[in-house]
Formats: sequence, C-alpha cells, structure tokens
Amino acid sequence: MQHFHGMTVEWLGHATFLLKTAKGTTILIDPWLESNPAHPKNWRAPEKIDIVLCPHGHMDHIGDAAAVAKKYKPNFIGMYELMSYLKTKGAENITPMNLGGTVTLKDVTVTLVEARHSSSIDDNGQTIYCGEPAGFIIRVDGEPVLYDAGDTSVFGDMKLIGQIYKPQIALLPIGDHFTMGPDTAAIAAEYVGCNKVIPTHYGTFPVLTGRPEQLREHLRGKSIDVLELKPGEPLY
Ligand SMILES: [Zn+2]
Repeated sequence: MQHFHGMTVEWLGHATFLLKTAKGTTILIDPWLESNPAHPKNWRAPEKIDIVLCPHGHMDHIGDAAAVAKKYKPNFIGMYELMSYLKTKGAENITPMNLGGTVTLKDVTVTLVEARHSSSIDDNGQTIYCGEPAGFIIRVDGEPVLYDAGDTSVFGDMKLIGQIYKPQIALLPIGDHFTMGPDTAAIAAEYVGCNKVIPTHYGTFPVLTGRPEQLREHLRGKSIDVLELKPGEPLY
C-alpha cells in the first residue's frame, strides 16, 4: 500500500486496486476479488465501496462485478456497452461513458482514455460485445494525478495522454502476453511522463512473466520510480 498525501492505494492482486481518498470515498478499480488467484488471503473487505471503475469486458477485470454490485451498490463507471452488460448482471447504478469523457462523482474526477486491447464477454455460449477497452485518468484535489492504463499495448498517443492530463503516477500492466511487457511498459512510462509507476497485471498466471525488477532495469537512468506493491497489505 502507498499513501499519496491523504489517499491510500492498495493493490489487491492482478489489476485490482482499492483507493481511498482523504474524504473517505472508496474506489475499486477492477471488480475481481474472491475469484482472483492473487487475491490476498485474510483481506479485510471495506465497509463501503462508492465507485467501481471497469476497463473492459474480461473476467479477470469484472469477474466479481455482480457480487460487488449486490453487496455495495456502488456507481460503476466505464464504457457504454460494458455498463449495459453489467446492468443485466445487477449493477443498479451505472455511469455509461465513452473515450474522452469526464465525470465527477463525490471528490473523484474520472476520464476515460484510450487503451489498445479487446473487450467482450462469453455469457452462456454467447459472445457479448462490451465496447472499446479503456484506461482511466483519476483526479482528486490535492493528490497526484493517476493514470490507470488498463490492459493495453504501448501506443503513441500515450504522449498525448501525458500532455493533456500530466499524470504523476501510472498503473501499467507489465505481465506481457495479454498486455505490454516490462520493456514496452518502460516506454509507456516515458510517453506519459509520470515519475512513478505501479506495475500491475503480472504474476497471476504463468504466462504473465514480466516482473517489476525487469521494468526497473528498463528504466535505469531515468527519473521514474517503480513502486512494487504487495497484494493486500493492510490499509491501516
Ligand atoms: Zn486482463
């Protein structure tokens, strides 16, 4: 877990994160908890979750969305088609958006930005299109700007994301195979111009071979720190 001024950032394994702002707003990035093999044992679930960010329609990102919807009744934010799908799974409060759009809920401002990936769900043998995949820019007053890239390859317009939103901290997938690996994640970090990277989407399955130390090696000589979190370090 890391503290950024008053905000805490807790990694729950794979690409799942729990953020808590100084004002107490709780944001879950990726509703994939109990069925996540990297989910920390003995994790103390929060009493409330206000906002859930969903990057794309794959089970390793939204696998527990229905359970989270039922337990917490949070506001789900994500791509229009993905939100429509989650509504059929019991998500009552949804904010369907599209790329480039910004929404403010409580003290949190979220912008959907481009990601290069795919987004569809197999539901009882039927493939459901979930819209374009997305990343998120997360802004809270007084905190560094966070960029969660979602699942993606590196792409040139990460420079544009950097130019427009000036994220200081980037959550970047490094596992390879389904996303960029440590070598291209290092390029992504430079493109977005952040000074800290939190590596995600690695170690969960054997094919996700990228490791933070490799990212660190690729960033040697650059003034970009790699913050390696441990899943489920207690919040307090
Ligand atoms: Zn994934």
